[in-house]
Amino acid sequence: MKIDDILKDKKRSISFEFFPPKTEQAEQALFETIEKLSSFNPSYVSVTYGAGGSTRDKTMSTVQKIKQKTSLTVMPHLTCIGSEKKEISEILDFYKSIGIENILALRGDPPMGVTELPDIKDGFDYAKDLIEFIETYEVFSIGAAAYPEKHKESPNMEFDMIYTKDKVEAGAKFLITQMFFDNRFFYGFLDRAEMIGIDVPIIPGIMPITDLKKIKQLSLMCGASIPNPLNSLINKYGDNPEDSRKAGMEFTIEQCRNLMENNVRYFHFYTLNRWEAVSEIINILKLFPI
Ligand code: FAD
Repeated sequence: MKIDDILKDKKRSISFEFFPPKTEQAEQALFETIEKLSSFNPSYVSVTYGAGGSTRDKTMSTVQKIKQKTSLTVMPHLTCIGSEKKEISEILDFYKSIGIENILALRGDPPMGVTELPDIKDGFDYAKDLIEFIETYEVFSIGAAAYPEKHKESPNMEFDMIYTKDKVEAGAKFLITQMFFDNRFFYGFLDRAEMIGIDVPIIPGIMPITDLKKIKQLSLMCGASIPNPLNSLINKYGDNPEDSRKAGMEFTIEQCRNLMENNVRYFHFYTLNRWEAVSEIINILKLFPI
């Protein structure tokens, strides 16, 4: 089913993001995670795509296996950076042939240390161009990325929002955000999106914090800032794994509680292929889909 149609009927939706496993053992662990999290009746699950196509085959086979083995709606991520149209077409043809109805369309990033974007002759510059191309298939509901604190390359919030709107006008039917740890950025984004006329569901991406030190590294990589209260927790508990998990999880639970209290209807969890932390959050908050 198409995700934009699923979301229309939901007062509350949850969804889960996985990455393609590298080994057989990791694959077994992923399917255990999927089985555990399926009991929460997610609206959809998604599978990431390695930068520049590095997990192309693994993403495709993981998506196919989830589709075959479960009744979940599964959405592959697809990035266009460094790819020719022909390669993207082959991937889309494959997804169409196995009955996939949703794609998260992304530009992707150049490899670490490379600042220049590759100039591919018959390729795509931005996610918007990929979205326009996927639209020509007329079978996919397309999602796109959004950045409550703006994308790191955007000159300012205003331009970031204009480019986000371009993606919606090109055909994106829903937006999923980068992780953030200060909900004020998300609420600000919602306000700016409404002002500019974006009327598709905006789904917050939630990263459960189970390791405070790692969160600091991750936040630097993805451009999510660390608010003072979280920074204090990192300084206080970061060196003790047990305390770090407890304090980090309490922080995420409070973050989700605040989103619920502010009538946020959609929750997309970055699971890192683990079920424990996400299940804990959902159970404690009774964050069940309705
Ligand atoms: P775009 O929307 O194309 O934006 C990229 C930059 O270009 C932005 O700064 C934007 O403001 C700017 N821009 C857009 N249009 C124009 C224009 N016309 N002129 C000038 N500037 C413009 N990466 C992966 O490799 N694999 C994944 O599976 C993956 N999944 C993700 C899932 C989510 C929910 C999110 C939020 C991100 C994900 N990413 C993934 C990361 C993403 O690929 C990077 O953040 C990437 O740098 C930008 O991708 P985008 O689709 O947002 O690009």
